[in-house]
Amino acid sequence: MTTHQQPPTRAQLQAKACICCGREGGELVPAGHVYTPTGETSAPLGWAVVAHPDCTSPEDQ
Ligand SMILES: [Zn+2]
Repeated sequence: MTTHQQPPTRAQLQAKACICCGREGGELVPAGHVYTPTGETSAPLGWAVVAHPDCTSPEDQ
């Protein structure tokens, strides 16, 4: 399977939009953390992000 790595938007990083689909509004639940590089200065920043329950469903196995 292919995983697309798209840089999160500011809304996603600020837990205002789903980290999976990027939509704002609706029911958003904690979805772990995302780490973004801060460039050449120091360690990555950690963000507590949210997602729709449907978006966070475990993948079918
Ligand atoms: Zn979503």
